[in-house]
Amino acid sequence: MSQEFWSPHLETLSRVQLEMVELARFRELLAFARSHCALYREKLSDIDPRSINSREDLKAIPLTTKEDLRAFQEIGPHPYGGILAVDMAKVTTFRQTSGTTGRPVYVPETYESWQWRVEVWCHILYMAGFRERHRVFLPFGYNVYVAFWEAHYAAEKLGCEVVPGGALDTRGRIQKIQEVKANAMMCTPTYGLHMAEEAKAMGVDPKELGLERILCAGEPMPEATRKMLEGAYGCEVFDHIGGTEVCGWAGMCSEKKGLHIVEPFFLVEILDPNDPLREVSVGETGLAVVTPLGRESFPAIRFNTNDLVVKGPESCSCGRTSQKILEVVGRADDLRKIRGVLFSPKSIEELLRAEFPEIGEYEIVVSRPGAMDHVVLRAEPVAELGKEKAAELAQSLSTRIKVKTNLTFQVDIVPRGTLPRYTLKARRFKDLREKQ
Ligand SMILES: [Zn+2]
Repeated sequence: MSQEFWSPHLETLSRVQLEMVELARFRELLAFARSHCALYREKLSDIDPRSINSREDLKAIPLTTKEDLRAFQEIGPHPYGGILAVDMAKVTTFRQTSGTTGRPVYVPETYESWQWRVEVWCHILYMAGFRERHRVFLPFGYNVYVAFWEAHYAAEKLGCEVVPGGALDTRGRIQKIQEVKANAMMCTPTYGLHMAEEAKAMGVDPKELGLERILCAGEPMPEATRKMLEGAYGCEVFDHIGGTEVCGWAGMCSEKKGLHIVEPFFLVEILDPNDPLREVSVGETGLAVVTPLGRESFPAIRFNTNDLVVKGPESCSCGRTSQKILEVVGRADDLRKIRGVLFSPKSIEELLRAEFPEIGEYEIVVSRPGAMDHVVLRAEPVAELGKEKAAELAQSLSTRIKVKTNLTFQVDIVPRGTLPRYTLKARRFKDLREKQ
């Protein structure tokens, strides 16, 4: 029988032991960061690491924000500035944030800190059932971003065989999967759906590709999208949560109900967005604040990921004892007020993937032509529809959106191929009000 856990000892520590280990590592990291890193020398000068003896004590430490990282990076020396906590000569890996919102942050990793990230990813992949027998196809050119580099190295460490699929177009990638008989893949949910659509256009049933499992990265994935991918490829699809600044920090086990925080590699707090001094209870939504505990090159202490997540239980039928996250609600900065109603773009994806399989690509555009906000959903059907069918579809979409979001949308069914296709992070929500 194959082993159930990548690290049986760490993955089954009691909650008391996990908390003890995490707080001890946190204190060490704090002491190190205050003496080696300009950002924390300034930010945490009046915090004594010896005063941190419980999770409650963490509240005295200010959160680190992306703006802090940018500001301290600016002061130099180039390129990492005041976030670097080791000798520059020790840095062996350059990565950067994707910079979809503002200036990118450059992320320095030493050989040791990179290996730490890879080990964390081994937990994520092993949890998702990746094993030695898998030939893993990665349909991306990885570039300077973190996405898929960690996955690549971790898959090798697990004993998988890795097939990098950069520098090919989508059709070329589908042919490569067929040629080498890859049986596992990692991709963004958006690209996974796009590949399935493209395979069908080539006359290939995605189920016949022989993929046994897919791990998704890069975007929050609603449950309906995960199920849609499972249906399209006839295989198991897993999710994870992560970010460039803090690494992948939670993964999905075979139960596929929520995600396990990779403890004790991270100390994760889920805080009330309106009262950051309070940790939320199980079932409540909070802001994920993450401290990676094994990385010295670039310490991130109580980093505000801006991810809104639902706190889950501390037990699971898989036997792991780590804290679970039930769901990623979305990025706090993606939530918008439209006509006074709080709106999450993820709710539309959920609705489309669960109830409207005839819709493929879509985008939401909010504008303010006069005094009122105006929202348009432009949706592309997966197969051409007649005029009458398109009008019916628009009507039923508009009704279901009104029920789900309390907002009135104008729904336009547009011809196939009208909307942009995305390979990494999709940008399906456009708020033009800020520019008007
Ligand atoms: Zn589990």
